[in-house]
Formats: sequence, C-alpha cells, structure tokens
Amino acid sequence: MLLRHAPYTLALRHPFGIASHTRTSTPATLTTFEHEGITGYGEAAMPPYLGESQATAAAFLDRAAAHLATVRDPFQLEEILPALDALAPGNTAAKAAVDLALHDWIGKKLGAPWHRIWGLDPAKAPVTSFTLGIDSPDVVRQKAREAAAFKIIKVKLGRDDATDRAIITAIREVTDVPLTIDANQGWKNRDDALRLIEWCATRGVVFIEQPMPKEQLDDTAWLRDRSPLPLIADENCQRLADVKKCAGAFHGVNIKLMKCTGLREAHKMILLARALGLKVMLGCMTETSCAISAAAQLSPLVDWADLDGALLIKNDCFRGTTVVDGKLVLSAHPGLGVEKI
Ligand code: MG
Repeated sequence: MLLRHAPYTLALRHPFGIASHTRTSTPATLTTFEHEGITGYGEAAMPPYLGESQATAAAFLDRAAAHLATVRDPFQLEEILPALDALAPGNTAAKAAVDLALHDWIGKKLGAPWHRIWGLDPAKAPVTSFTLGIDSPDVVRQKAREAAAFKIIKVKLGRDDATDRAIITAIREVTDVPLTIDANQGWKNRDDALRLIEWCATRGVVFIEQPMPKEQLDDTAWLRDRSPLPLIADENCQRLADVKKCAGAFHGVNIKLMKCTGLREAHKMILLARALGLKVMLGCMTETSCAISAAAQLSPLVDWADLDGALLIKNDCFRGTTVVDGKLVLSAHPGLGVEKI
C-alpha cells in the first residue's frame, strides 16, 4: 500500500474576498493511494487562514503513509481513520486527503460510486449555489449577471453594515434568484445583526451562514430565537462533536470535508444533524473536482449544497461532478467518480 502526495496550487479565476481578507490562489496537496493495481485520488485544499499549509500536510501525510504501510485491509476504515486522526491534532484537510483517496480506492475496487454504496438516489442531488465574494457594487453587479445560470447565489458579507446593504442592493438590481448569505462571523452586535437579517428577509434571502463570531454562541442562540431566516453554523461546526453544540444555537450546520477530515465523518455528521432536527448544508473550499466530486457523493442527503469550488479555479486537474442548469450531476464512475486530466 502506497500513499503519495504532491503540492498543487489552485489558481483562482477572480480575486476572492471574504469578511477578513482577499486572495488569488489556494495551496492544495494531491494524494494517491495505490494498492493491487488500483489508484485512489484525494485532495487537501488549505486556505491559509485555516492554519494548514503544503508543508504541514506533507509532514502529516508522511506519517500517514508509514501507518498505512502497516495496514492489512484498506476496507477497514473504522480502524484506519481513527488511528490516522490520533497521529496528530488538527491537520483536518490533510486527513481528508487520505480519507478521500481511500474512499476512491474502495469504490473502484467495488466498481461502484459512493452514492450507490450509501444507497442514495443521484437524481436527488441538489442545485449548488454560486458564490460571490465581497467586492464593489459594480463588480458584484457584473458577477451576479455572469452567475445567471445558477438557481441560487451565495453572497459573502460581514465587512460593515453599509457595504453589506450595498452588495445586496446591487445584486437585486440585476437578478431575483434566491440568495444565501455568509457573514463569516462578521456581525459582532446581535441587535444590529437582527436588523440586517430582517432587512435581508424582505429581499429574497433563504438563510444566513455563521452570522456572528464563533465565540458568541449565546448571542447566536438569542439571534436564532428571533431571526426570520434560518441560521446555519459554519465556523462553529468543524467536526462530529460540534454538531450537538450547534443544535442549541443554530437551525442547521454547514459540513465541509476539509474541516471534518473527510467523507467518513461527514456522513456521520449528516446522520447526527438529522437526528437532532437540524438542516444540513454541504460546503467546500476552493478545490479541484476531486474533493468537490467527493462531497457531491453525499449531496442527495442534504438541503443545500454550496459546491462551486472547482468552478472558481482555472487549473482544475480532475473531471467528475458537473453542474448543469445549476444542478449537481454526479458521474457514474466508481469511487469518487473522478478521472485525472
Ligand atoms: Mg461559510
């Protein structure tokens, strides 16, 4: 069993702004897992503000490779993945890169894509939103026009109240598609946040992602009890153990492979969230079609998908899940359903 890894830098089509900063590329690391003549593919996408890098991923993946060399049966994910998780804290994207490569290998070995193995109907894959970063009203207006093929647009807000309202107003001048908002913890005052959410509710907004800082969980719970729109946890919901905490302050959770160590844990998080009566959204970083196609395998289980990460880069090196008329279309290929280009 051979786990290999190599750095790969994702080049963004446009500079991408969120509440805290703007960037033009995303560091990633690609993995392969080879055994019995079959190659599984995986990926770690690591926006710098999350604390991982190509160097930390390489260090973790070398240790993971040494562990995998001692494994006898790569199907035993319930043994292998907890052991890898225990090798080091954090490193969630690097852990996902192993989880994805193993899932891809197993699916290829079985000759089936993961949505089939999980018993899901690919026709139930949702539409995906397309994300607009924080920008000037003119640029936002232009990007909203370009996103006309999408059935739902996700808008990054959270710099300040005037900018937030100007962005929504600019978008509404050119399109009436439903909007979702991601404040990325940008709203610090709960009364101001409530006023802005009430204003958004009159402008075709469907839900609000992570309105307040993750440390302000009590304020978020206060807001949840008054908000006319569902509040979805993102920064507050990283891993399986966070889902239960979020149930007290949010209406739903946003699950991302790069935060939660991969498909195995993401699947468990979805099941737990459902048992707790929570809405579920699947999100992503800027990623190649490898990690996007992996997340798409789970998408028939969720309410909303924000899986546009591969559309935001210009050097995608995989073919897999596509977007047709705004809807995710899963490939019938086995494993993650991806082919290396
Ligand atoms: Mg978010």
